[in-house]
Amino acid sequence: MSGTGTGIRLHAPAPGWEHEADVVVVGSGVAGLTVALRCAAQGARVTVVTKARLDDGSTRWAQGGIAAALGEGDTPEQHLDDTLVAGAGLCDEEAVRTLVTEGPDAVRRLIATGAQFDTSEATGEILLTREGGHHRRRIAHAGGDATGAEISRALIEAVRAARIEFIENALVLDLLTDAEGRAAGVTLHVMGEGQRDGVGAVRAGAVVLATGGMGQVFSATTNPAVSTGDGVALALRAGAEVSDLEFVQFHPTVLFLGPDAEGQQPLVSEAVRGEGAYLVDADGVRFMQGQHELAELAPRDIVAKGIMRRMQETGAEHMYLDGRHFGAQMWEHRFPTILAACRANGIDPVTQPVPVAPAAHYASGGVRTDLHGRTTVPGLYACGEVACTGVHGANRLASNSLLEGLVFAERIAADIAEHPAAPGPAVFPEPGRSPLLPSEARFAIQRTMTRGAGVLRSERSLEGAAEALSRMYADAEELLERDGKTAEPCVETWEATNLCLVARVLVEAARRREETRGCHWREDRPERDDAHWRRHIVVHLPSGGAGLPAAPTSLTIRTTPTADFPTTRPRTEPQR
Ligand SMILES: Cc1cc2nc3c(=O)[nH]c(=O)nc-3n(C[C@H](O)[C@H](O)[C@H](O)COP(=O)(O)OP(=O)(O)OC[C@H]3O[C@@H](n4cnc5c(N)ncnc54)[C@H](O)[C@@H]3O)c2cc1C
Repeated sequence: MSGTGTGIRLHAPAPGWEHEADVVVVGSGVAGLTVALRCAAQGARVTVVTKARLDDGSTRWAQGGIAAALGEGDTPEQHLDDTLVAGAGLCDEEAVRTLVTEGPDAVRRLIATGAQFDTSEATGEILLTREGGHHRRRIAHAGGDATGAEISRALIEAVRAARIEFIENALVLDLLTDAEGRAAGVTLHVMGEGQRDGVGAVRAGAVVLATGGMGQVFSATTNPAVSTGDGVALALRAGAEVSDLEFVQFHPTVLFLGPDAEGQQPLVSEAVRGEGAYLVDADGVRFMQGQHELAELAPRDIVAKGIMRRMQETGAEHMYLDGRHFGAQMWEHRFPTILAACRANGIDPVTQPVPVAPAAHYASGGVRTDLHGRTTVPGLYACGEVACTGVHGANRLASNSLLEGLVFAERIAADIAEHPAAPGPAVFPEPGRSPLLPSEARFAIQRTMTRGAGVLRSERSLEGAAEALSRMYADAEELLERDGKTAEPCVETWEATNLCLVARVLVEAARRREETRGCHWREDRPERDDAHWRRHIVVHLPSGGAGLPAAPTSLTIRTTPTADFPTTRPRTEPQR
């Protein structure tokens, strides 16, 4: 199946310039930059391509920290147990074991790269905090609540020192393959001046997708504007399999800025609850008590559901997070970023409870990989939030994502070094005939998804979303068929088209999963159904043949037979 691609590509001009590397890394967050550094250290010529500036991505925004069994008395085994519980029966145990056992050393190597974590003045040891779902203090943090910014700073400095080539303001469009269907590079559009302006191609024997999440598929999200699911859309068009897309984590405590707030919203990290802040309703009742042994520190899906339930019961638009008892000094030293964000929006957490509500935060699913980051297309790797390695199952444990980016980046670099690829010449297929969506479709998609596929879902709401998304695509297709016209190729229309594709797959997977599990909450199927659904949903686009007007309306969806994540090469289980 995979390897030959689907023939569906983003509508774009033919490449007007070319560049060559051994490895092309798409994205410059923790995952992409770690792959780039480790590959360069092994002598590979590496080019990093990134959509905006090097530090634009979710990594820079990470607050709470990075989880690893670094503390006294903590062990990878305990970290494994907490991860498996959060994953609600769908984690791949081997992948989790890899994450938690290789994690501590990966964090130490990150520190050796230059990242400075908060340490105890008395002992010099790394300070560790707790977050939801962790039974121990095992979250290392930096700058109080600015962990991601510090990791990003350190990695960017190291990448610059390593003389790794990077191309900023470059939106990667599609995968290039050789005649055998092996990855051979990418096409991209550079918003620049001079030699590399407009659409071009980077040829490389290994292509690493590290494009982050897809939070922008919803109206309110903690994710930055660049998180439009481009990597998942590219991988689907390239014929790769994606898995677990229905498991979108909604962060329970996002600063509530009004019912119509859109785009990236400020996060109030779980670490605030880890340090003792609690959730209350408008009457000051601590509604999480009695719902879970860990109360406010229950896994995220439980807390998000607790908040949504209370909002429904009381007719409120949000709940409150009360950390007034911290006092000004603690807020200023431990949570300076959150304090500033709240104050910028007219709320002072030192004297007021903070209004919070759930918003889209993390894509637990993504491009299916094995334990070496290999996708089902030879030579194409996926790393970080864009990937589905099997470590998160139905719900990511807090602060495991930065760690996943680190650990699997190192594994990918090792695999690339061990199996150097020499693809044949890239085949530049005929320009695709599938339509582009207009830029304004982005907002329509976001609203549709928030309404139909948000925290609370049902067959009815999902059906409505599926129909609306199909209509958007069909309108664009009809325009192309009838008048030979499509939206002007540009960043906004490419992103809208990618959003529509990943939204469609997400909705179809969420419809198919007729149960409630982890962060997938079906109001019409409130129970977890292990007998039928302790398994993964795997999707790929069928081949439409190069140049054919293949609409992504016909997805190939299969379920796996067990909860084990299918980390091996493509298989042929019967469809369910
Ligand atoms: C507010 C917030 C707080 C968080 N807090 C934590 C935390 O405390 N601990 C934790 O473990 N996780 C946290 N997370 C999650 C974590 O930050 C992300 O999962 C992780 O940083 C993802 O890293 P990444 O390298 O995969 O992607 P990102 O850091 O998102 O980087 C993706 C990169 O890909 C680029 N890109 C995207 N599309 C294209 C394209 N078409 N062409 C070229 N480049 C492209 C982007 O510009 C960007 O450079 C948080 C996330 C957010 C949003």
